[in-house]
Amino acid sequence: MELIVARPEGLYCTAGDFYIDPWRPVERAVITHAHSDHARVGHGHYLAHTDSEGTLRARLGADIPLQTLPYGETVEHHGVRISLHPAGHVLGSAQVRLEHGGRVWVASGDYKLEDDGTCAPFEPVRCDTFITESTFGLPIYRWPSQPELFAEIDAWWRANAAAGRPSVLFCYAFGKAQRVLHGVDASIGPIVVHGAVEPLNAVYRAAGVRLPDTRRVSDESVNAALLKTALVLAPPSAQSTPWMRRFPGYSDGFASGWMQLRGTRRRRGVDKGFVMSDHADWPGLQKAIGATGAECVYVTHGSVAVMVRWLAEQGLDARSFKTEYGDEDAEATAEAPA
Ligand SMILES: [Zn+2]
Ligand SMILES: [Zn+2]
Repeated sequence: MELIVARPEGLYCTAGDFYIDPWRPVERAVITHAHSDHARVGHGHYLAHTDSEGTLRARLGADIPLQTLPYGETVEHHGVRISLHPAGHVLGSAQVRLEHGGRVWVASGDYKLEDDGTCAPFEPVRCDTFITESTFGLPIYRWPSQPELFAEIDAWWRANAAAGRPSVLFCYAFGKAQRVLHGVDASIGPIVVHGAVEPLNAVYRAAGVRLPDTRRVSDESVNAALLKTALVLAPPSAQSTPWMRRFPGYSDGFASGWMQLRGTRRRRGVDKGFVMSDHADWPGLQKAIGATGAECVYVTHGSVAVMVRWLAEQGLDARSFKTEYGDEDAEATAEAPA
């Protein structure tokens, strides 16, 4: 019997009688991370990594029945040994390792291989069966390294500041915004954030992640003169809203893995696109899957057909699960009003 099967509610562990990132309310849920397509309201019991506590409670309610677990520690449920391992995706993100009857399955949730300094870096976990995402599972997706990416963002910000223009960078409030904050050269100018971003900054700071000082737009110190050299971080939902009137003459940019696609930047209507993702690129997916040593691989979301075909060509038992997990731009909608 399979240790994990797809049910209408979500991915279900048959022996343990619990779900992983279910999309419908269930009695027991193991949550890989707090993005909205993986962590939903209404479950009877939640198990997640210790560092996910802040974001889960902020998003789903302070009183959710949540049990937390550090990386590498084991709990047993109906004879299934459960442990969580770093996925390198966002703060608290985990791969779920299940061991039962001598078999090991790992469900990856979402993951990224390069260490970005804002969460525990991805660790490959040996297993018999690996359940992988494939959000960017096409050969065209190759991310610039962290230093290349931040050299580009810093150069754009520096040039705008020299010209007296605010630099408004659209990025998701949970994960991307904190990566930008952690990675930019904060000596270029002041950093101003949208009201949806600051509560998540607080969660990251409380978890010990170093972020530079940030101001809210409503802070007294934020005036027209200060904004001329500022970097402004805002969620994509702020684009083309009256909120943007505070930044006369601004230059805008968008940070997303989809920016690798010709045409996406134009459709987004921004001056500059930065290729930046919380997900593995094509070489990253291949490397991660290979490092598990798994003989059987299930693909959950993204370029499922392409990835299944590629895995089969490598001689693996490749399959897919139908899930309701979103793509990079659909998943991070944990955004409060300004
Ligand atoms: Zn995610
Ligand atoms: Zn996702």
